[in-house]
Amino acid sequence: MRTIEENIRDIKSEIPNHVTLVAVSKTKPNEVLMEAYEASQRIFGENRVQELVPKSETLPKDIAWHMIGHLQRNKIKYIAPFVSLIHSVDEVNLLPEIDKQAAKNNRNIRVLLQFHIAQEDTKFGLSLEEAETYLTSSEYAQLKNIEVAGVMGMATFTEDEAQVRNEFKTLKNIFDRLKSDFFSSQPSFKEISMGMSGDYRLAIEEGSTMVRVGSSIFGVRG
Ligand SMILES: *Cc1c(COP(=O)(O)O)cnc(C)c1O
Repeated sequence: MRTIEENIRDIKSEIPNHVTLVAVSKTKPNEVLMEAYEASQRIFGENRVQELVPKSETLPKDIAWHMIGHLQRNKIKYIAPFVSLIHSVDEVNLLPEIDKQAAKNNRNIRVLLQFHIAQEDTKFGLSLEEAETYLTSSEYAQLKNIEVAGVMGMATFTEDEAQVRNEFKTLKNIFDRLKSDFFSSQPSFKEISMGMSGDYRLAIEEGSTMVRVGSSIFGVRG
């Protein structure tokens, strides 16, 4: 059996320096997260607010918590005080609420726009058109406490490497388009969150700057 420490070391040695490793710790208990913490991992991703909040309260304060799962508007208030990055803005109407809760907490919240790039209907996400419409709206112009830091996407769960690669290329193209049309003067718009245990190598080849890896670090979830 390989240890969590060995898994993290292997993945870190494999990914380039400009790629951030988000350790996806959903369903794992605190002791298991602490093993990763002791191996110097400081960025953890969770997909449920009910799990993210208690973990953030009990684990060390220098952990950066990323929300990576589908987010309901009425739960934003619970993570707004501490969340470091929300990857999963999959509906534009989440943005005014994130902005409002960020303002209440006197902070800015960094977010990624999640795009629907997979063939599967089960995956969430915006279309390029929806994002462009919102980014040109007066509502968006009024948001002062959010920082759109890039894009996120999930490829189809398939063995077909060419398809997965194409979906990652689609997300990279969306990023490039938004960067040139809306964020060319904002260096903070720089993240492309794509790639999980099964496909992060491909994702990095296609331009990922942030990989979200769970089972290759912590083992398969029960
Ligand atoms: C669970 C999850 C991951 C990690 O998946 P693994 O295959 O275990 O690496 C990445 N991104 C999201 C959005 C997830 O829900």
